[in-house]
Amino acid sequence: MAEWTTHARFAGPIIMIGFGSIGRGTLPLILRHIDAPRDRMLIIDPDDSARAIAEQEGIAFRKLALTRDNLRSELEPLLKGGGFLVNLSVEVSSIALVELCREWGALYIDTCIEPWPGGYTDPSLSMSQRTNYALRESARAIARPGANDPTALVAHGANPGMVSHFVKQALVNLAADLGQGGAAPATREGWAALAHRLGVKGIHIAERDTQRANRPKEQDEFVNTWSIEGFLSEGMQPAELGFGTHEKALPPEGRRHEFGCDAAIYLTRPGCATRVRSWVPTAGPQIGWLITHNEAISIADYLTLRENGQVVYRPTCHYAYHPSDDTVLSLHEFEGRAYERQSRIRLMNDEITDGIDELGVLLYGHAKNAYWFGSQLSVDEARRLAPYQNATGLQVTSAVLAGMVWAIENPRAGVVDADEIDWQRCLEVQMPYLGPVVGAYTDWTPLTGRPGLFAEDIDAEDSWQFRNVIVR
Ligand code: NAD
Repeated sequence: MAEWTTHARFAGPIIMIGFGSIGRGTLPLILRHIDAPRDRMLIIDPDDSARAIAEQEGIAFRKLALTRDNLRSELEPLLKGGGFLVNLSVEVSSIALVELCREWGALYIDTCIEPWPGGYTDPSLSMSQRTNYALRESARAIARPGANDPTALVAHGANPGMVSHFVKQALVNLAADLGQGGAAPATREGWAALAHRLGVKGIHIAERDTQRANRPKEQDEFVNTWSIEGFLSEGMQPAELGFGTHEKALPPEGRRHEFGCDAAIYLTRPGCATRVRSWVPTAGPQIGWLITHNEAISIADYLTLRENGQVVYRPTCHYAYHPSDDTVLSLHEFEGRAYERQSRIRLMNDEITDGIDELGVLLYGHAKNAYWFGSQLSVDEARRLAPYQNATGLQVTSAVLAGMVWAIENPRAGVVDADEIDWQRCLEVQMPYLGPVVGAYTDWTPLTGRPGLFAEDIDAEDSWQFRNVIVR
C-alpha cells in the first residue's frame, strides 16, 4: 500500500452537498489527504442510494434536497461557526451558497457554477442570461477583492479547474521550447503578456474519452461517464467561446453580451449540436462538441492583455469534447428526438472494460503550430489509485482535493476562479492521480486535408480562424 501524503489539516466541519459520481469519488481522497475529524463531516443528498459508502467510513449522511426555502435553515446550524462546504450537487445555486458561507466564515468549493433549477432552461430568460458567461459574471459581481472574505473557489474540477493550471504549465513548456524560457510569470498581466509574446492564437480544451463498457448503449437510453444531468444541462445552454483578437469576424450565429467582461461570445445554438475540429495525441484529428464551459470564458478573460484600456490581445478559447463513443451515440439520438430526453439514463462505471480519458489543452497558432498538454488517465489506473472512480471522475475528484487543500492553505482569498490560484501547488497535489501527463506537438491544423473533394467555406490565409474550426 502506498504511503499517502497528508496535505492539510482542518478542524471541520466539512459538509458535502451531492453524493453522485463526483461526491463519491471525492470522499476517499479527502479522507486520505486531509486530516479532519470524521465525526465533524456530513453528506447531504436527496438520493440516499450511496448512503452505505459514507456510513462505512463513519461519515453521517442526511437524505435531503436543498432548496431556496430551506438552504439557510438547514445549513446555518452546521456552518455558522465556519467550516468547509464542498458543493458537488446539481441545481443548488452556487451564488446563494457562496453568500451564506461568507456570512458564516466558511470555506467553499464547487466544480461548476450551478444555478437554481430552471436556470439553464427557463424560456423566460434570454439566451444571453442562460450562458455560463452570465453565471460567471454573477459570481464576479459578489467578489469583493481585498475584503479578506473567506475563500470561495468556484468551478474547480477538471474542466473547469485543472485545465487552467495545464494552460500555465503548457505556456511555460512552450516558452522553453521556443527559446524564451525563464521564470514563470507571477501576475495575471504577466501570463497574458507571455501568451501574447509566444503568439498563441487560441486554446482548445481538447478531450477524448475512449472508455467503453461491456454493455452497449440501448435505444432510448443516454449513457455517459459522468453526470448525465450535468451534461445535458450544459449541452442545452448556448455554445460559448472566449473570442480572440486574431479572429477576423464574428461567426454568423455569434452574439456579444451587453454586460460584463466581454471576453466571450455565445452562439445562437445549443452546444450539444455544435461540433468543432480539434486534435488530441492518441486519436489525432477529431471532431468534438463545443459544449459551453466556465473555463472557456475564465481563461480568455485571464489572458486578456490591455494597453491604455484597450484590448490588444486575447486568445480564443473553447471546449472540444469527444465523449465516450456510447455518449456520442446518445447525443446523436437526443438531437434526433429534438432534444427530448431519453427515458433511461446510465452512468457507466463498473461495466467499463477499458479506455482512457485524454484531457488537455491545445495551444495553437504559435511558431511550433500547436501543442497539447494534458492527462491520459486510463480507467484501470484510476481504479488502482482510488475507489469509486473511472478515469473521468478521478481527474475531477483529484482537482476538488487540490482546490480544498489550496483553500485551507489560503483561507482568506475571497471569491476566486481556478486561474487566480497557485497552479503549481494544485498540480503537485493532483499529479499522482492523473496517469501519464504529457506534452505533444502536432503539425495538424483545422485545414489539414481540406478542402478535399468538396468545395468548402474556409479561410485559407489563417488556418486557425474559428470559421475553419467549427463544422458547418
Ligand atoms: P451526479 O448527477 O452524479 O450527482 C449529483 C448529485 O447531486 C446527485 O446525487 C443528486 O441527488 C444531488 N442533488 C440533486 N439535487 C440536490 C439538492 N437539491 N440538494 C442536494 N443534493 C442534490 O453528478 P456528478 O457527476 O457527481 O457531478 C456533480 C457536479 O459536478 C455537477 O454540477 C457537474 O456539472 C459537476 N462536474 C464538474 C466537472 C468538472 O470537471 N468541473 C466534471 C464533472 C462534473
